[in-house]
Amino acid sequence: MLLKPNIKLERVTDITLSILKKYDIDSLILDVDNTLSTHHGQVLTEGLADWLELMNKGGISLLILSNSKEKRVAPFAEKISLSYISLGLKPLPFGYIRAIKKLKSKRKNTAIVGDQIFTDVLGGNFLRIKTILLTPIKLEASLGFRIKRKIERGVYKIYKIKNTEE
Ligand SMILES: [Mg+2]
Repeated sequence: MLLKPNIKLERVTDITLSILKKYDIDSLILDVDNTLSTHHGQVLTEGLADWLELMNKGGISLLILSNSKEKRVAPFAEKISLSYISLGLKPLPFGYIRAIKKLKSKRKNTAIVGDQIFTDVLGGNFLRIKTILLTPIKLEASLGFRIKRKIERGVYKIYKIKNTEE
């Protein structure tokens, strides 16, 4: 079940403190592209600033882990005042391990939040941290991504991945 997320939600802002409490999660590793912003966009997705504040108030630790380059990730991370790891090489475990260390959390209390099954979810399940899959904000236009998304749709069907009820 390496490709099946523990939790599936539509948007990052659908992650509530009560869901996190239910799954015993105190730390979130956040993807950027199509999770917090559109692919390579610098604009915060709707409601993100309020959601970040809610997480802060709830004592949830946050860190960005992106496969993108520093020059893409750093300005966005600065905008929302979060630490980040760029060139994260997801789904390989190294970035996740560094992130958990930086968050000073434990694997069982940490979740990865992202939009891609073959990077975010696969790497998270491999390390046995919790996995929260989101619907991508806006589908990418490139051929490579269109193929990836088509394969993902197959995985959604096979594992009957549907939005998790609170
Ligand atoms: Mg992404």
